[in-house]
Amino acid sequence: MALIVHKYGGTSMGSPERIKNVAKRVAKWARAGHQMVVVPSAMSGETNRLLGLAKELAPSRVSTAYHRELDMLAATGEQASSALVAIAMQAEGLESVSYAGWQVPVRTDSSFTKARIESIDDKRVRADLDAGKVVIVTGFQGIDPDGNITTLGRGGSDTSAVAIAAAMKAAECLIYTDVDGVYTTDPRVVPEAKRLTTLSFEEMLEMASLGSKVLQIRSVEFAGKYKVPLRVLSSFTPVDIDVNEEAVSGTLITFEEDEKMEKAVVSGIAFTRDEAKISVLGVPDTPGIAYQILGEVAEANIDVDVIIQNLSKDGKTDFSFTVNRNDYQRTIDLLKDKVLPKLGAQEVVGDTKIAKVSIVGIGMRSHVGVASKMFRALSEEGINIKMISTSEIKTSVVIDEKYVELAVRALHKAFELDQA
Ligand code: ASP
Ligand code: MG
Repeated sequence: MALIVHKYGGTSMGSPERIKNVAKRVAKWARAGHQMVVVPSAMSGETNRLLGLAKELAPSRVSTAYHRELDMLAATGEQASSALVAIAMQAEGLESVSYAGWQVPVRTDSSFTKARIESIDDKRVRADLDAGKVVIVTGFQGIDPDGNITTLGRGGSDTSAVAIAAAMKAAECLIYTDVDGVYTTDPRVVPEAKRLTTLSFEEMLEMASLGSKVLQIRSVEFAGKYKVPLRVLSSFTPVDIDVNEEAVSGTLITFEEDEKMEKAVVSGIAFTRDEAKISVLGVPDTPGIAYQILGEVAEANIDVDVIIQNLSKDGKTDFSFTVNRNDYQRTIDLLKDKVLPKLGAQEVVGDTKIAKVSIVGIGMRSHVGVASKMFRALSEEGINIKMISTSEIKTSVVIDEKYVELAVRALHKAFELDQA
């Protein structure tokens, strides 16, 4: 008998009919002899609806007091769906009880709307499991040291589920969602994209941070830190499919590189349109320049991604980097106000119409020529590369936004991901 955590996304919670299906699926697992903890998201659209109401009342408030109330508000979405799952479980003839994060408790820090889980007390949940109950725990939320309700950021139910699985040492954490696994790339862009049966944790982490929206990135970090076996699978398979068949479906995130397995050099292509490029032109090429520019940016809590410093000419150089598109204007203003005067740099220019496309694969560690194959495929399509960044298991390029789909299709083909 194993302890299993199931997480169901908003679409799976979309209607009473779908919640009934969730209950039937969980009941099947419970009847197969497993101890079950279920972590539901809010019903689809509910979090947006709630946050939209707040926005109508206070369009652009930014204060801790306001963010505290946003969490108080948004957490109700998961409380409602959790109670509904417990009710549906009971209707299926199983004993079931639901808990909000604060009742478990799931302890977090006090960063409202983006809190981090610090610890989970599993006593209450374990006692219920031992009494034969199916336990439902709200996703997305916890309680801070002062007793305030907190939420974990959008998509945070994934992280709740993984954290609970880690705290309870679950045999596996199954993330049920509206896709049937992790794909080589977004199938809406490349219809030939293939589902990966396994993906290493490092690759998943890169894919999640590079724009694949399947899992919240923090949930992947959590899974890596605590070695939680994680599986992404569809909640739209027939509820009565054999439990053993279901148990091996989807994509399993693995932790050890299986030496014997012939691994593709590149496992997937990720892309994001969320970034913007900023260049500071004509900065003096002297020690400390990068720090003087990026130090101010970091000070303002703005994340920087790809960074390039050009070769200097006549003692001057250009310095470029990317930030999230939402931070674009703030970064430009900050550089104009604080950095340009100090450096005597000539100009700040920017471009929001860019996209970042990345190839990801642990096979890149042991193969040469992977990046050049990427550059060749892009050049054959006439796509100009604006910036490049690499790490051990990924190569990213920044290109014009209008070529992103063409680039993804070309790379998917070049690395033969459609033949997997
Ligand atoms: N309901 C929350 C959201 O929409 C959390 C989640 O679904 O994971 O972001
Ligand atoms: Mg989600």
